[in-house]
Amino acid sequence: MNIKFLNRKIKPTDPCWCQSGLPYNECHMAIEKRLRDLARIGVETPTREMVKTREQIEGIRKSAEINIAILDYVAKNIREGISTWEIDRWVNEVTRDMGGIPAPLNYEGFPKSVCTSVNDQVCHGIPARNVILKAGDIINVDCSTIRDGYFSDSSRMFVIGETTPEKQRLVDVARECVYKGLEQVKPWNSIGDMDHAIKTHVRANGFSVVRDIGGHGCGLEFHEDPYVSYILRKGTGMVFIPGMCFTIEPMINMGTYRIYTDTTNNWTVYTDDGKPSAQWEIQVLVTATGAEVITY
Ligand SMILES: [Zn+2]
Repeated sequence: MNIKFLNRKIKPTDPCWCQSGLPYNECHMAIEKRLRDLARIGVETPTREMVKTREQIEGIRKSAEINIAILDYVAKNIREGISTWEIDRWVNEVTRDMGGIPAPLNYEGFPKSVCTSVNDQVCHGIPARNVILKAGDIINVDCSTIRDGYFSDSSRMFVIGETTPEKQRLVDVARECVYKGLEQVKPWNSIGDMDHAIKTHVRANGFSVVRDIGGHGCGLEFHEDPYVSYILRKGTGMVFIPGMCFTIEPMINMGTYRIYTDTTNNWTVYTDDGKPSAQWEIQVLVTATGAEVITY
């Protein structure tokens, strides 16, 4: 949507700008009045650009089909002894077979089609022939796809063979956090409400949440507004309205939340204390009553 259209004065009986086909007064008019009232008292509110149209949502769902298929393929085939370079090859093949493009490839110079982050790597691990998975490793495979111009983004953790009970718990808690957060995603709740649920679960388990990297809007571009922090207080941050599409992907560390970026490749992020990190990521769409998981 272009800005001129967005700013055009709409009459109540005009078609809604969201392209639902409904008149404005039966669609977004009441929502936008409530947003204006909230903005007046200092609440952070979404813009029209953050609301996806029906056609866009269809496109994002189609893109997500590929993303899910890739991670299902990885789940079936990942094992001890393979390299992360091989995972990259699988991702490339499955994506192209299904008519997509891997979004990470050449994104701001990223050299591979997927991020593979092992043990103390927090995110943005670069697949390589010499990174061979061994029993006890935990690895995040973070997949993003472009199909017909629409973006999808999700990641999963995989445990190679059997790992220590503590690492297994980290992986499990990281997944639980995503779904604790998801329960809070519904119209008029806020990002801080989601974060509070995540933080409470993390603290109860003695782990920490990474502060410096968050999630993001996703769909028409790889990374869109809003930036989704996971460290806000309950009742703060942007409120949710139907049609917003973003990722839930808190990074959970066993030890300190502090991280640093590898200065040799300027991508890979590690925990400061060398302890393991785990992350699951889903992409969600805010609906009239809650949220729909678009990709996982
Ligand atoms: Zn509307």
